[in-house]
Amino acid sequence: MELKAKIYSCYRLTYSKIYKDVVSRLYPNFDTEKIKLEIEDISNNGQRSIQSQRSLRQYVTRTIRVYEDNKLVHIVGLSNTNYDLDKKHEKELDPTKKYVYGRKDYHGNTYLKQGSPDIFNYYFSEKPNGVKLSFYLLDTNTSIPSNMFNVLSYRELQTIGFKILNIDEVDFSNYTATGCVLNSTSNIAFSSFNKYMNDIALISKRNTGNMPSFLQCQEHLVYNEDNTESYFTDKYIYTFKALSAQGYDSLFRTWCMKVLADREGTAIEFRLGKQYFHYDAEELSVSDRLTGPILQTFENAGIHIEYVTNDEFMREKDMEENAYISAKNRKDPRNQSLFRNNIRKKGIPTSCVICGNDNPSVLKAAHLWEVSSIKNADANTINNFININNLFDLIDQTSSHKNELFFKKYCLTNSGDNGIWLCGNHHDLFDSNYFYFESEYGTVVLHFEDEKQAADFLNETVEDCRIPLEVFTRATKAFNAQRNICFKN
Ligand SMILES: [Zn+2]
Repeated sequence: MELKAKIYSCYRLTYSKIYKDVVSRLYPNFDTEKIKLEIEDISNNGQRSIQSQRSLRQYVTRTIRVYEDNKLVHIVGLSNTNYDLDKKHEKELDPTKKYVYGRKDYHGNTYLKQGSPDIFNYYFSEKPNGVKLSFYLLDTNTSIPSNMFNVLSYRELQTIGFKILNIDEVDFSNYTATGCVLNSTSNIAFSSFNKYMNDIALISKRNTGNMPSFLQCQEHLVYNEDNTESYFTDKYIYTFKALSAQGYDSLFRTWCMKVLADREGTAIEFRLGKQYFHYDAEELSVSDRLTGPILQTFENAGIHIEYVTNDEFMREKDMEENAYISAKNRKDPRNQSLFRNNIRKKGIPTSCVICGNDNPSVLKAAHLWEVSSIKNADANTINNFININNLFDLIDQTSSHKNELFFKKYCLTNSGDNGIWLCGNHHDLFDSNYFYFESEYGTVVLHFEDEKQAADFLNETVEDCRIPLEVFTRATKAFNAQRNICFKN
């Protein structure tokens, strides 16, 4: 069999150095000396610069194509490189060209993602002929390929089903926080939808000012034989934005979510929202829709997107209003599904803060400041709580109900900051006041009748018994402290 690697003239020098390693990772037993290299000249007899060759949309230049007996079998997508020999050479011939060879800080975050829609789309156009797609990382000896977000991209790619040929060259030892516990590189794919969402929550910086992408869940409530409640997932809704570079992240993320949800038989809907989810925001005319190669990849990958228009947004506002009015008529500030989704919006791991159990079907949303206590509180208590802790942002100031006492109670009761996830067992113990969280540091304080009960409890839990810092926000601290005041009374 003849093996041939084809590269484009604009990557002649850079890819000539690595094509043998690329091919030998696909064909480990093949004699590397027999691998042929063919350079496809798209320079128009040297008239086109390196950059203008790479900008030609009809060629997907950031690839090495591997042919068995002249039949295309592998498309290998390559990452960005800061050691671009072709641009370096061009600059040597023409010093007016701008290029800095070996810049370590350059496009670190789009190391792999930038340009990938073109590679995916090229692959989809060739796929019917049995072509396989994989990726190869350049610069693996520098810091760029192994920052947290790139590690996330590698794991996403692997989950979607595309191999990174030289993933063994990335040192994962610094990334155990991403859930990536590797002593071999055999499997860096995410194991479940919930695990993936939890790992994202762990590494994402939460931005409270500008609403980030978030996951909601439509679920139905079932009463168990002992009259306890269980929630079952009907459908997840992932709302995201597509401004500039976020489009690349969203492509990888939604695709990965879809693959995992499909595998588990979980329904998921993707919604592309406006820049600001604000009811009186003007319709944005730009950047609120996917376009070009990214849109094409979404379509090729079968990721259907609903666009959230202001009309739909207003309709959801109406539903929220109706839910509030019905709570007010019932005189019960509890809206459990709103509460659960508000905790999800915090972007914290969906797992029990005591034992780490992350099975969504056993997780309960626990109120820190208890519903009955909020419900019975007088106006002074509620207003003081908001004023002293500076929690005005928890009361929706756009609502016409903002000055109603019941509305304030409703907002506080169902605020994500008033909630933590606990598994069924720990939720029962918490509700029965067998333990509470200390106000300043969130460490667990046991409150058992006898030593044996306490020992049994501790045996079942992990050693790090406290509300994790990322969950213990300023507002959450305030709610927890309020619970403790009620507890002591
Ligand atoms: Zn637990």
